[in-house]
Amino acid sequence: MKTNENRCPICNGEKEQGKVTFTVDLGTNLVVIRETPATVCSLCGEEWISDEVAENIEAMVQEAKSKNRMIEVVNFSLENVA
Ligand SMILES: [Zn+2]
Repeated sequence: MKTNENRCPICNGEKEQGKVTFTVDLGTNLVVIRETPATVCSLCGEEWISDEVAENIEAMVQEAKSKNRMIEVVNFSLENVA
């Protein structure tokens, strides 16, 4: 795989480390995860998250689902992955 780690594959803009608000729409409920660490393109705003972060989001979504709330807003945390 030949990719430039520091350049956006969409617009060739510069990638920056940042925090994003990640929203997961489950249809019946909505999970909003704030302070999610991500790589963000400084030009077009495209976001990338690491596998580790994705696993955490998955765990947090499962937890939010079990609470059965229409809207669940949480701060990102690494504590949810076993
Ligand atoms: Zn871009």
